[in-house]
Amino acid sequence: MDPATSQQLALDQQAADDKAAADSSASKPSVAPSVPSALPDWVRLQKALGVESERGFNNIEGHQQRFSEFISSSLLSGLKALSANLQNQMKDGNKWKTLAERFDHYSELSFSQRQHLVADTRRFLHQARQAADSLPLLAERGGAYRGGSAKKNSSSSAAGSTERKAFGGKPPQPTDGADKSSAAKRKKKAPKTTDVTGLLNRSDSNHPLDRPLTYLKGVGAYKAEKLAKLGLLSVRDALFYYPRDYIDYARQVKIKDLVPGETVTIVATVKRCNCFSSPRNPKLTMFDLTVYDSSSRLKVNRFFAGAHFRSRGWQERQKRLYPPGSIVAISGLVKQTKYGINIDNPEIEVLGGEGDSIDSLTVGRVVPVYPLTEGVGADLVRKTVVASLPSAVALQDPLPRGLREKYGLVDLVVAIAHIHFPPSAEDLATARRRLVFDEFFYLQLGLLRRRKEQQQQQTTVQMAPTGELIDAFYKVLPFKFTGAQQRVVQEILNDLQATAPMNRLVQGDVGSGKTVVAVVGILAAIQAGYQAALMAPTEVLAEQHYRKLVEWFNLLHLPVELLTGSTKTAKRKQIHKELMTGELPVLVGTHALIEDPVKFSNLGLVAIDEQHRFGVAQRAKLQQKGDNPHVLTLTATPIPRTLALTIHGDLDVSQIDELPPGRKAIKTTVLGGRERADAYDLIRREIAQGRQVYIVLPLVEESEKLDLRSAIEEHVRLQETIFPELHVGLLHGRMSSADKATAITAFREQETQILVSTTVVEVGVDVPNATVMLIEHAERFGLSQLHQLRGRVGRGGDQSFCLLMTSSKSEVAMQRLRVMEQSQDGFFISEMDMRFRGPGQVLGTRQSGLPDFALASLVEDQEVLELARTAATKVLEAETPSGEDGLTLWPLMEKELERRYQKLMGGAILT
Ligand code: ADP
Ligand code: MG
Repeated sequence: MDPATSQQLALDQQAADDKAAADSSASKPSVAPSVPSALPDWVRLQKALGVESERGFNNIEGHQQRFSEFISSSLLSGLKALSANLQNQMKDGNKWKTLAERFDHYSELSFSQRQHLVADTRRFLHQARQAADSLPLLAERGGAYRGGSAKKNSSSSAAGSTERKAFGGKPPQPTDGADKSSAAKRKKKAPKTTDVTGLLNRSDSNHPLDRPLTYLKGVGAYKAEKLAKLGLLSVRDALFYYPRDYIDYARQVKIKDLVPGETVTIVATVKRCNCFSSPRNPKLTMFDLTVYDSSSRLKVNRFFAGAHFRSRGWQERQKRLYPPGSIVAISGLVKQTKYGINIDNPEIEVLGGEGDSIDSLTVGRVVPVYPLTEGVGADLVRKTVVASLPSAVALQDPLPRGLREKYGLVDLVVAIAHIHFPPSAEDLATARRRLVFDEFFYLQLGLLRRRKEQQQQQTTVQMAPTGELIDAFYKVLPFKFTGAQQRVVQEILNDLQATAPMNRLVQGDVGSGKTVVAVVGILAAIQAGYQAALMAPTEVLAEQHYRKLVEWFNLLHLPVELLTGSTKTAKRKQIHKELMTGELPVLVGTHALIEDPVKFSNLGLVAIDEQHRFGVAQRAKLQQKGDNPHVLTLTATPIPRTLALTIHGDLDVSQIDELPPGRKAIKTTVLGGRERADAYDLIRREIAQGRQVYIVLPLVEESEKLDLRSAIEEHVRLQETIFPELHVGLLHGRMSSADKATAITAFREQETQILVSTTVVEVGVDVPNATVMLIEHAERFGLSQLHQLRGRVGRGGDQSFCLLMTSSKSEVAMQRLRVMEQSQDGFFISEMDMRFRGPGQVLGTRQSGLPDFALASLVEDQEVLELARTAATKVLEAETPSGEDGLTLWPLMEKELERRYQKLMGGAILT
């Protein structure tokens, strides 16, 4: 999935929210937790700045704004948000303006100027936020997740007894950084158990964790600026910046003892370092390092692809990093090459200059490897983390002892110490388990609490479960519902009668018939006198739904309209008007539906197709077009149920786990380049029988890096040299909407027999006469995506074929593709996909609302996940004297949730 899209969404969302905030949203209780409008939106600002630096300072573009415009206007509105009084107290009004002005000229800045500006802004915002939080008036409204400071006070006295009931622990303690005396008490509680306690006790334990990094010894303004690029601003950030890996420097070998196939570390002295552009391939930059130890000498190399690395300056900097005589640790996999023994893709790190004693933090033990970014060295991050470790004692474990004991979790301080510097593999595993638990636990707390809040909401929309419209629809439908469809329809109709708004996700494989199920919901809304909206992520898909609905709704004498980005102004106006008067009962569209001027007179149901392609915030936006309307979301990326409950813990989940009868399995074959002719023969045979064919390519234009056939060139080639006797159509994402529509219509009307396409056809395109799906460079697609693509055929009664072309020689790639030959089951395929690529890749971290876990793996850590879910449920269900949810009993946990929530939700929940 394209990460740029999610950023666009974030930016656009901000623009839309700014407007919404202007017409004041206080009147309506919103489902999503809200940031008080009197404060700048720290989280989103930081998020945007973070994304910009991750993306390489390219001034990323949203639909409505560029990054720089967004930041500039947000800074100005942020300044405005702080009342005049507070601005005076904060004494930094000018800085807001200066920064905003500098962002106005962002596009003229050089790469490094941009880097500096972004880092500077991040730091400034961090400090400004701290200042704002410490002001009483603001602090009261402070939390990003849920304000509730008054609540905490009232509940804390009663908390002790109930906590003992639930977990047999001690009464809760005051929150972090409360006052000096409690900090002093905490100091005594530092664990004595570990060999890292030396580090922990090295300096005084009294610093609050929210101090800026410059507070640490050895970190000045310059280094802090670099660290800000990694999102590290406070001491707490450093403590919670987990290693992505560890190098076992204890397993050192001498150069002469290198054995191919082993992963090892050598410590050696630099003899020579070279960095130069490849004479043969101008895109390639080579880096050679010659080192020696007492046993032998070795040359290791690295390659850098891309124009950026060709700059002399960059190359010189590389050389300066490894001056002759410096001691380096090199680790990696030992390989036998035709030039002799080598270390593949080595990690190289300077340990110290010649004659320096080698730092005991790095050599002779397991050393953490942190995620880095350009210009921020391993050494800097490691030293910063080490410097922050003594502050870990100021961490109060929000999890009560009883809960920790019950679930076998180590203390937070120990876990943090050990995740950075594990004394043993076992310690690392326990530390990791604890921190993984935390990641899941707070996510579950957040989701479950949100779900509770939703359930407590009232909707004015209530619908009768049957009625003539639904009956009439069943009559005009040319088929009978499957058992699974009937069951899900029933679940939906039950929800629609409740006083709490429905929040249901329907999962179902491609072609399982989710759309018709949604239509029943839509009809229930209409016959109860409400309007309904159906939102799809692309114009192609929205169009498709629209055509289906028109077909059915004509028979029911119901008007339906389509609203997308390319709807003409006159039509648009007419639609707006008819929505407001209520004349128009159903509107289908893309995200154009959530654009501001669209107002419904009486929106009762919102259906969202391919929900993972929309941000949570966008969904919430559509919901706000009515008075807590019912929400039905559909997804064709089915995931195992436990996982679904985890990720969508705030939704009810229905599954359509049965395909309509008569569907034949699609014959799927993986083909190498030599079998291309066979593929074309099959295509000719099918077309001779009146069938049609999709040919899908991964990219629109010839990529420099990858030798991929572009759709445009492939179209020309196929039309002119392979199938001159046929009509070959072309569809890709860069075409105008009108051209896209023309291409699809021509294919649907069988004017073209072959449609060459990019993945635009992936979702929803429905041409039952198509029986062959040929996918080029299949190895470049995820399995779930291949499954989606394959779902474009096999929609009629005929035998269909899916041909996966690949020239890949990779064993793993082939294994992956074979899954497609073996299975047609979307659940199984998505599970395999997750095993191969990780859930984040499969579901698209941001779009799906799937959290950015730092440590946890949704595939590997299922057991901990279940525990965390149980624990979170228990906590929320604990009885409180006030009748509020149980979390209010544990202020530390509640505070921690607040702190983590936005991050856990991948920044998706920003309203
Ligand atoms: P999905 O959105 O789940 O991929 P669709 O709703 O687009 O699936 O349905 C795929 C095709 O199957 C459509 O042409 C639809 O009309 C048809 N269909 C849906 N339900 C049934 C059924 N019970 N029996 C036969 N055909 C069905
Ligand atoms: Mg569909």
